[in-house]
Amino acid sequence: MSTKQFDVVVIGGGPGGYIAAIRAAQLGFNTACIDEWKNEKGGPAPGGTCTNVGCIPSKALLQSSEHFEHAKLHFADHGISTGDVSMDVAKMLGRKDTVVKQNNDGILYLFKKNKVTFFHGRGSFVAAKDGSYELKAGDETITTKHVIVATGSNARQLPGAPFDEETILSNDGALRIPATPKKLGVIGSGVIGLELGSVWRRLGADVTVLEAMPAFLPAVDESVAKEAAKLFKKQGLKIELGVKIASVTKDKAGVTVTYTDAKGGEQTLAVDKLIVSIGRTANTIGLNGEAVGLALDERGAVTVDADCKTNLPNVWAIGDVVRGPMLAHKAEEEGVAVAERIAGQHGHVDFDIIPSVIYTSPEIAQVGKTEQQLKAEGRAYKAGQFPFLANGRARALGDTSGFVKFLADATTDEILGVHIIGPQASELISEATVAMAFKASAEDIARICHAHPSLSESTKEAALAIDKRTLNF
Ligand code: FAD
Repeated sequence: MSTKQFDVVVIGGGPGGYIAAIRAAQLGFNTACIDEWKNEKGGPAPGGTCTNVGCIPSKALLQSSEHFEHAKLHFADHGISTGDVSMDVAKMLGRKDTVVKQNNDGILYLFKKNKVTFFHGRGSFVAAKDGSYELKAGDETITTKHVIVATGSNARQLPGAPFDEETILSNDGALRIPATPKKLGVIGSGVIGLELGSVWRRLGADVTVLEAMPAFLPAVDESVAKEAAKLFKKQGLKIELGVKIASVTKDKAGVTVTYTDAKGGEQTLAVDKLIVSIGRTANTIGLNGEAVGLALDERGAVTVDADCKTNLPNVWAIGDVVRGPMLAHKAEEEGVAVAERIAGQHGHVDFDIIPSVIYTSPEIAQVGKTEQQLKAEGRAYKAGQFPFLANGRARALGDTSGFVKFLADATTDEILGVHIIGPQASELISEATVAMAFKASAEDIARICHAHPSLSESTKEAALAIDKRTLNF
């Protein structure tokens, strides 16, 4: 059998990899994508962490649990009586699985549409010879001129407490707990811990989040983090900061965590299930990069320059397996940029304006610099803030928590950062991102007509607030 030859082979079919493969194929390259993720029947399930055990299933469960909470707490305000509201967890999980499968199938369809050859199995380097690379793609051996490594990341384990996905859960197990636990512990108050903790709290679990850092959400603008801490506490999410975990012991009842609290007191937390969400590590397992001398950094990520070039000619790496924020849209942008660079174009990713979102309720979204970052840089800035409480659409929605905050350069008025905590923050942040990409000033946003009534009027008002010209507050 002759060896299949490609121009571009992408190893990994997550958001970075599958998008890179599609873009490379659009640019006329004979492209393949290799992905080893298996569905429950052993079949292909492209889409990576994001589609299978990350962005998509977490949002499906956040949606279901939010509907449940609304039905319980808010429907009566609208005159809707429901009687007792109950949650069929199995059905909720089934719906989530359907959503995941729709996305897996969608990617397989897109591969066909764009003529990307898909290999289901492990991809690994075999050798570099004559200006091309020999790879294993499952059981087949293939060759290619360019390789894009997009092998993603894995959940970091707590030393001494390996994931069993029954009681000590990574994001994978946390997305398929078969019945709402009475008591749930979460170690790590990052995005994943807060989102998954929120799902199960809304369904009735007593959730305690233990965080090693002394500050809550240190990467978020301080005023937003403060507001979020207040609102989450009101919702019944217990968050303990500055803790030091001493041990995690499994027992018949579940798991017991012993830890030292911020004041130095010895504490124990007994829970039915424990989610460990203490970050993720770059994944190069099985890639066999050693065969070709692929360089990794001290944290095990593939070393790349600003253009995603590795130390090897024509080998590129993108997404969670390289430096930078572990976000699906960052991986996608890098994938497109690399495909375009291979084609000799000027692929571009602006790392300064990658939005990030926490899909709690209320949602938290930001782009650009936080106020604490601007202070640390000694940059002169102006701030403007507008509360959703003063927005007619938010009142009609029955969700007036949070605010929009603008930060702009004190002299030029260029927007430096936008921070939103409130309803639909994940959608509202796009306007700010677009504005920043076009180097807009706060005044530009303040002078643009925004539809009424809409949450986006709060964005305009926050821009007006920069010069103390809010009209509705
Ligand atoms: P991955 O998605 O990890 O994909 C890598 C793929 O490569 C996998 O399919 C893997 O099986 C495959 N692979 C690895 N090695 C090999 C090999 N040798 N051969 C063949 N295949 C291989 N990000 C957001 O932007 N928004 C969110 O809302 C969000 N929510 C999240 C929620 C959770 C619970 C988690 C865990 C993550 C979330 N993320 C979110 C992060 C997001 O999932 C990642 O940033 C994103 O998936 C990274 O994409 P990637 O393509 O780099 O890698």
